[in-house]
Amino acid sequence: MDERYDVVVVGGGAAGLSGALTLARARRRVLVIDAGEPRNAPAGQIHNYLGREGTPPSQLLADGRGEVAGYGGEVVGGRVTGAERLDGGGFRVALDDGRTAAARRLLVTTGLVDELPDLPGVRELWGTDVLHCPYCHGWEVRDRAIGVLGGPMGLHQALLWRQWSDDVVLFPHTDRVLTAEEREQLAARGVTVVDGEVTGLETAAGRLAGIRMADGAVVARQALAVGTRMVARSDVLTSLGLAAEPLEMLGAEIGSFVAADPMGVTAVPGVWVAGNVTDLRAQVIVSAAAGLTAAAQINADLVAEDVRLAVEARSLAGAR
Ligand SMILES: Cc1cc2nc3c(=O)[nH]c(=O)nc-3n(C[C@H](O)[C@H](O)[C@H](O)COP(=O)(O)OP(=O)(O)OC[C@H]3O[C@@H](n4cnc5c(N)ncnc54)[C@H](O)[C@@H]3O)c2cc1C
Repeated sequence: MDERYDVVVVGGGAAGLSGALTLARARRRVLVIDAGEPRNAPAGQIHNYLGREGTPPSQLLADGRGEVAGYGGEVVGGRVTGAERLDGGGFRVALDDGRTAAARRLLVTTGLVDELPDLPGVRELWGTDVLHCPYCHGWEVRDRAIGVLGGPMGLHQALLWRQWSDDVVLFPHTDRVLTAEEREQLAARGVTVVDGEVTGLETAAGRLAGIRMADGAVVARQALAVGTRMVARSDVLTSLGLAAEPLEMLGAEIGSFVAADPMGVTAVPGVWVAGNVTDLRAQVIVSAAAGLTAAAQINADLVAEDVRLAVEARSLAGAR
């Protein structure tokens, strides 16, 4: 890690490894630093990734690390704590174990943290029976007894999950009161509404068995869809003056993201972002595609710099 890289990629999930693969194949010296906590780690399989349907998340990333290494890219474990701009151009990143690495450009693909609803049992079943995304898990729980926990997106989620099962219950919980029109929509689609506060989840043999209500009633359910607060992992960028911005939907704050253009260009020259850190909705294949897009832009930017430096060197040589 002592040498100066063309690009340091912070984060080795789908976005980071895809970016690194593109850069390594473009004959750039690239280093990936990864803390090893991809967002979908609790899930057994990746779905909706064409050609890799059902692959375990750890397998896809292991294959990706091997592909990056196959073209000369370096992938190391570690957690980056901050970055600084260097006099004369480029950046230096610092790791929490004291190591540092310098690069001409940075690609930050640190993902996001799902802040879960604060209810007993939710964390333990996250990614197995407590779910957030029907495109990731809907097929696996089709025709089962599905609950949807209220939140800003509760109504929308309940109507969406109804596509996968005709046994959907919406628990508005402490969310806003549903309008008569919304209740009509739910009733017309056969979605039951159970009013009252949810106090926790009931389990049997380690699986979800039901939703416990404040009045003591338990509503039998096999899966529970929840909305999470999706918070961009943006600490690395703070020292460069780049902060995450809040993202609002339906009048509620649902998380934060690092703003960038469609190519991943941030407000800080030389720093790109890709994947969930900037696009909270990005699935694995979308994150991988964003990593490739940003990497191609970074390479083009480096090519432009290489040309400028070569012209300067040539005219200096000619002047001598
Ligand atoms: C339970 C669950 C199941 C899911 N299932 C699916 C599915 O079936 N199909 C699908 O398409 N999508 C699925 N997703 C979404 C999927 O997880 C994301 O689309 C994907 O992980 C985004 O990739 P990424 O590279 O942006 O971030 P991540 O995969 O989260 O990777 C970010 C990496 O950066 C590292 N990192 C963070 N901070 C630092 C730091 N400071 N220094 C060094 N490294 C750092 C992290 O440890 C992590 O390894 C699921 C999500 C969840 C929560």
